[in-house]
Amino acid sequence: MKISEILREWYKKNKRILPWRNTKDPYLIWLSEVILQQTRVNQGLSYYNRFIATYPRVELLAAAREQEVMKLWQGLGYYSRARNLHAAAKQVVSEWGGRLPGDYNSLLKLRGIGEYTAAAIASIAFGQPVAVVDGNVARVISRLFAVEEPVNSAKGQKLLTTLADDLLDTDDPGTHNQAMMELGALVCLPIRPLCADCPIRLQCLAFQKGMTGHFPVKIRKTPVRERFFTYFVITKGQYTYIYKRKENDIWKNLFEFPLVESEVLPEEEQLGEMILQEAGAERHQLTVTRISPVIKHQLTHQTIFSRFVHMQAEPEWKPRNRSWQRVPLSGLGEYPLPRLTDRYLEQAGEWLAGRAGKP
Ligand code: SF4
Repeated sequence: MKISEILREWYKKNKRILPWRNTKDPYLIWLSEVILQQTRVNQGLSYYNRFIATYPRVELLAAAREQEVMKLWQGLGYYSRARNLHAAAKQVVSEWGGRLPGDYNSLLKLRGIGEYTAAAIASIAFGQPVAVVDGNVARVISRLFAVEEPVNSAKGQKLLTTLADDLLDTDDPGTHNQAMMELGALVCLPIRPLCADCPIRLQCLAFQKGMTGHFPVKIRKTPVRERFFTYFVITKGQYTYIYKRKENDIWKNLFEFPLVESEVLPEEEQLGEMILQEAGAERHQLTVTRISPVIKHQLTHQTIFSRFVHMQAEPEWKPRNRSWQRVPLSGLGEYPLPRLTDRYLEQAGEWLAGRAGKP
């Protein structure tokens, strides 16, 4: 029996029942693939359900306000995925009459759709013979063929794509690709793969050599960058101030409290001057009411150390920074916020609401 046949049989018996597996609708498959990148299935499932309930058709997603899309995405991270999804939905409507194109190369022209997503949509929704190579598939193939080229190098990627193409079941590429991904997700795990349960262990070179821990070979990753954020939570009556992140940086187009980034976190005694400068205030106009402990927030390539400094403003104070928006404290939840801010508000929100308007 060929490896692709073994995989197909295994998949039929062992696949998880997931809503996007019951459809050939390319929009729904696209949505699921974008949501599931860098996200666990359990977490992605509720987002997928909410997205299809809110935007059951690509036209509705295209017509939505970006802020609404970002709000729905809140908590999933990697926000460029949501921005690209929204932009590509508009492209589908304006350039393709509201139907996703059926071929791999046209899919690649849509914003945010890379080789992996294009291959998934083309094979699963349209039956095109294109192999998917995501992280799970790369791991399976690197072990199956004992690939010594690093999987995160250009040469390694090319080799894996060639091997995945050779393995592809061209009669049913959609099922084959899903079977490969499912094997990687359920059996060929990153640490301690479940080789005893694996349907292709007899064909697997890494298993035969007793070297499953050696594969996939990787070159060292870029070091994690440390960043230090001090947020200013200024309340005036029942209102506070937020701004929209615009720079080409993490969390673009999300909202957060005014922020100063520094080389290290400032000492508490340095905060006073820093705040007055940033807020354009006189000393008597702002009173610090609370300083949060340092909060560590981990992103893939960045570690953020942050502190939230709460202040009460006198009625006559007005911020000089025009990009700050005055919003009711009770309305903060309507804005798309980075996970760091959202988590902080979950802890401090009640306190914040209770303090609003009090000296
Ligand atoms: Fe992965 Fe083990 Fe199966 Fe090889 S035998 S593909 S290492 S689970």
